[in-house]
Amino acid sequence: MKKQTLLSRFRTWLNDIPIEDPVNRQVTALLQIILIGMVIITIVSTVVNLFLISSDFPLSDLVIQSFLVFLIFTTPVILLRRGYFRISVLIIIAVFIVLVSASIFESNLRAKADSLTFFTIGILLAGLLVGRTALFATFMITAGIVLFFPFNETDPALRLDYIAVAGNFILLNGLMAIFINSFGIALRNALNASLHRENELKAEIAHRKKAEEKVNSLNEQLQKQVAELERFTYTVSHDLRNPLVTIKGFLGMLNRDLQENRPDKIQNDFQRIAGAADKMDALLSDLLELSRIGRIINPPIEIDSLQLIEDAIDNVDARLRSKNAIVNVEPNMPVIYGDRIRLREVFENLIDNAVKYMGDQSLPVIDINVRENDNNILFRVKDNGIGIEESYHNKIFGLFEKLDPTAEGTGIGLALVKRIIETHGGRVWVESDGLGQGSTFCFTIPTKGRD
Ligand code: ADP
Repeated sequence: MKKQTLLSRFRTWLNDIPIEDPVNRQVTALLQIILIGMVIITIVSTVVNLFLISSDFPLSDLVIQSFLVFLIFTTPVILLRRGYFRISVLIIIAVFIVLVSASIFESNLRAKADSLTFFTIGILLAGLLVGRTALFATFMITAGIVLFFPFNETDPALRLDYIAVAGNFILLNGLMAIFINSFGIALRNALNASLHRENELKAEIAHRKKAEEKVNSLNEQLQKQVAELERFTYTVSHDLRNPLVTIKGFLGMLNRDLQENRPDKIQNDFQRIAGAADKMDALLSDLLELSRIGRIINPPIEIDSLQLIEDAIDNVDARLRSKNAIVNVEPNMPVIYGDRIRLREVFENLIDNAVKYMGDQSLPVIDINVRENDNNILFRVKDNGIGIEESYHNKIFGLFEKLDPTAEGTGIGLALVKRIIETHGGRVWVESDGLGQGSTFCFTIPTKGRD
């Protein structure tokens, strides 16, 4: 596992160079490996030589020689990493020519005929990696060096040998140069096209994978929504039936009381029927409100949250006064980003509930404060009312969930709050130490710029 990461890191490092051309990039990676290999071999052989060195060979010579070889290999690596592809290749070719020429001149052409392979490699590199001019120049220079020997030799036997070596070299490398000149370009273009296509395919695969992930997540979302809708339909039909059953029941009683002519009971029947109708009206208008969220979203704007909370307090003022409740709002409130009307409804619902569920508290106090971090703004609406047992902390956010069935209200308020907060990308929950301990409703809103 670790080995793989090291390998992939090395691969990334090899390719992490400012070279646009895809073929050059790949060749650069290969050249770097070869050159780094050479550098490692140089270092190892220097260390080994340091141990094996005989006393008559001066140490300074070894160090200088090794340093020169080290420099010869590291210079093109540094240039390659800076993105100077052509210059690096030209330096490598020049190093081949100089080193091979030096070794031939030190000995003779016949003895060192093998090392002419490096001239061939130089011609190959020039033709495939640099261009026509470099190919032509490298061929001419190497041919010139090789031809120098027969022209300069006086011994006829040696001269003949040199002519054979030089002739061979020029013939074979000349043919190779012609071949590279005609087919090298085509080869390069084909390579370029195939690498380009490979990159295109990779991008396409990545694009398709992303699209597939999106479809999967949408599918999941859809399934959740269908399940929620099923639950919703069931709860709605169940809860709407209750007032209808009441109305039907009292209509029967009304009929009977009319026949028996009992005005005192008739009055009560009418009141119960009107009460059930009011209840149904409240349920329907809350449901309508709930269904709007998610469908109708007012454009998000920057909102001064202190102003927003003050507006919400004004709207529930009558209930606050009826219970003599005090609301303390932290003075430094942030600017938030969202649907102003919906967020005001959130505060209205939470403040209204805080007062509604005060119980017999003689000094009802509601504290509203805020905490902020990099990603979220957290609002807390705290009351000193009846509190909520832990087992109901999630349940109360469900549709029509009321802990006290006789209490006023439809049981939709917190479902509404949850939906509004979630459409804003936030989260809502309640904290309470249990009955009689008060409740704190908390919700988050992402800071502006995040979805
Ligand atoms: P309702 O219209 O009945 O108030 P909500 O969805 O707003 O509906 O609340 C659901 C239930 O959660 C309420 O019936 C009540 O039992 C409980 N509840 C809500 N807010 C508070 C609070 N601040 N303190 C104690 N109980 C609360």
